[in-house]
Amino acid sequence: MNYTLQHIISTLDIKNQENFPDFNVDNISIDSRSLQNNSGTLFFALKGNNHDGHQFIEQLIKKGVAFFVVEYIPNHLKNKAHFIVVKNTLKALQKTAIYYRNLFQFPTIGITGSNGKTIVKEWLNFLLSPNFNIVRSPKSYNSQVGVPLSIFGINENHNLGIFEAGISQKGEMEKLQEIIQPTIGVFTHLSSAHDESFANLDEKIKEKTALFKKCEVVLLEKNAEVEKYISSPIITWSFDNNKADYFLSKNTKSNKLTEIEITGKNLDFKVSIPFNDEASIKNATTCIIAMLYLKYEIKDIQERIQQLYPIELRLQAKKGINNCLLIDDSYSSDYQSLQIALDFLEQQKLHSKKTIILSDVFQGGLPLNELYQKVASAIQNNKIDRVIAIGETISGYLNELPNVISFPNTNDFLKQFNLNSFENETILIKGARNFYFDEIVVVLEEKNHETVLEINLDALSHNLNFYKSKLSPKTKIMVMVKAFGYGNGGYEIAKLLEHNNVDYLGVAFADEGISLRKAGIKIPIMVLNPENSSFHAMIAYDLEPEIYSLTGLEAFLKVAKQQNITSYPIHLKVDTGMHRLGFESHELPELKKLLKNNNFIEVKSVFSHLAASDDITFKEFTELQFNRFEKFYNELISVLQKKPIRHILNTSGIFNYPHYQMEMARLGIGLYGAGNSDNENKNLQNVSTLKSIISQIRTVENGESIGYSRKYLVKEKMKVATIPIGYADGIRRGWGNGVGYILIHNQKAPILGNICMDMLMVDVTSINCNPGDEVIIFGEQLTVNEIAEKTNTISYEILTGISQRVKRVFYKN
Ligand SMILES: *Cc1c(COP(=O)(O)O)cnc(C)c1O
Repeated sequence: MNYTLQHIISTLDIKNQENFPDFNVDNISIDSRSLQNNSGTLFFALKGNNHDGHQFIEQLIKKGVAFFVVEYIPNHLKNKAHFIVVKNTLKALQKTAIYYRNLFQFPTIGITGSNGKTIVKEWLNFLLSPNFNIVRSPKSYNSQVGVPLSIFGINENHNLGIFEAGISQKGEMEKLQEIIQPTIGVFTHLSSAHDESFANLDEKIKEKTALFKKCEVVLLEKNAEVEKYISSPIITWSFDNNKADYFLSKNTKSNKLTEIEITGKNLDFKVSIPFNDEASIKNATTCIIAMLYLKYEIKDIQERIQQLYPIELRLQAKKGINNCLLIDDSYSSDYQSLQIALDFLEQQKLHSKKTIILSDVFQGGLPLNELYQKVASAIQNNKIDRVIAIGETISGYLNELPNVISFPNTNDFLKQFNLNSFENETILIKGARNFYFDEIVVVLEEKNHETVLEINLDALSHNLNFYKSKLSPKTKIMVMVKAFGYGNGGYEIAKLLEHNNVDYLGVAFADEGISLRKAGIKIPIMVLNPENSSFHAMIAYDLEPEIYSLTGLEAFLKVAKQQNITSYPIHLKVDTGMHRLGFESHELPELKKLLKNNNFIEVKSVFSHLAASDDITFKEFTELQFNRFEKFYNELISVLQKKPIRHILNTSGIFNYPHYQMEMARLGIGLYGAGNSDNENKNLQNVSTLKSIISQIRTVENGESIGYSRKYLVKEKMKVATIPIGYADGIRRGWGNGVGYILIHNQKAPILGNICMDMLMVDVTSINCNPGDEVIIFGEQLTVNEIAEKTNTISYEILTGISQRVKRVFYKN
């Protein structure tokens, strides 16, 4: 659809009087990192609590973006691009979406509810796509920002839209209704969980159902509480209320299959659903009712529902064979989700070599040559080294690209391709469901035991932005990724931070810095404990040493002279009260002598470390440290040509003493979601979740004992589960013997007796569970901080203690 800037301008309340040249808008963007066509882009600078898009404008102008919708024009950029100034950029984005939506007339399914929105949307897309050209929200784009972005995916060939809408506060749904304009409403599920943003359940229902204001029909599970707020016609279903339009009964056939019988509206038929959990059965039922409403034949419904599959809601990076990194996106293949996956690939790539395994691409509407042209340019823009194209269609269209290998189907690829030739590369595996790319993932994945530490990269970005919001935008940020990113993962986290424009990384030892450089990290890295023997290597890898003693400085200067380098960046550490490392004031005269007129090095920063930033009862001492630091710095700079930047705050320092931020702050534990006080943690999201499974369950009789040294004596017959994780994985022994527990299906299972090296046993007498079920060792519900407190340690020790043999999996929602 062609639409121009002038069209958009006419819908906005614009504050400035500039005459804008017109251009065809190809692409609307809010994220400076994912841009495909820069000159055709209109960028909306959104302002969130912790994020301000205006900060990225300068960078975007350099990339060729010329048109911006902003709330203010950054001072030094006035004549460098065209700025459309509005009062509120989010509202402007929404208005633009409403304008765009109104260019199209076709039925649209609008989905809301507390859970299941994305699953129902993806399933409906799968079920209906043989008959419609569908446009849908990518991933879970259902927010005030996500919905407008989804709408811009519509083109003139679509004849059905499926969009999800999610809200977190009053007043939001009304906007989403205007943007989506659904004709068919779907209400998936109502959770009665208390929600702080709504006064009570009634208010929440009223708000959610505002999506259905103008629907021709709304489909939902029978529920009088919800129905009373819907004024449009409704069609209801129920497993227990026979007044519903469709009444259902279910019959579990096997552990993977449920048969349901549906009666109502003169119909009576059975459908097999390939799931047995309640949520999936209800989501599938919602889809069946939608198909009935769209007049599908019973036999088509029966056939297609049987092919439903579990949906992975997030992109995952997994360790692959031969040191490869796999990005698993093996259930959908459309242009929009391909772009999202390519962004993730760019962020996560461990190796410079990038491969994509791609199936035929399905995108309602676009003619194939146009579609594959877009796909080809996305692949080229992202500099993919090798494309493995699988499918009858795709191979015909991507021939023009260099480095394409094609196969007619997945089976042929698995049989003919030498899989062992994948080595040291990052591989994006992206295919539509019917290509069964999950089989490719299975063979390429490194085999490991069942324990994983999952790291939520979105939560990490959230936490970073929270601490940034405590600092002035001018203050630089160094993030500490020492000790393997506090146990969470080295390069994966460094990559994300680089992507988020942090200024510096901090590591403990030269080796850690070297491995980050080898993985392609380019931003400055400071090394806290450089050993004299590592100076040569540090210079070779562009790592900046912390210098904390006169002997260290002399040793570094010697190497610098030998290599005849100039202005090498170093950082001086001052001891102001921690008494660990650093220069003391009596060393100042000698230090000044060494630095004066010294061209081999450049003092980039001078810093110190607070001993008690987490405890405000030590406020006076902290102030003393700060004053000592200032004094030292002021004396030192008299001999320097350039003024080095200053920094003293760590995580708790940023939280408790932001007025000491100076020119940089050093963020550590808070990024990983485990800050030092409840007040701080309230603002953070959980990053790491340690999971395992149940290996075996047994009944143990009264009088027996459990585990080593007979530490737990059974007093009453009990059910005991064994979990394959122990102290060698980093679970502290102090967490055993009745102190600690794990979570199984959200219920507490106390740890029985001593924790073993590779296993532990828990009481599951009152928990309904089976071997193979997932268990949580720590995460959002059972936090690292809780474990730390009860085992007399700190979150830092628990996180960094998780053994390297535990597989790390990184994901984005
Ligand atoms: C580890 C470290 C930090 C980060 O500390 P957190 O308490 O994790 O924020 C900051 N500065 C130095 C010198 C460190 O060693």
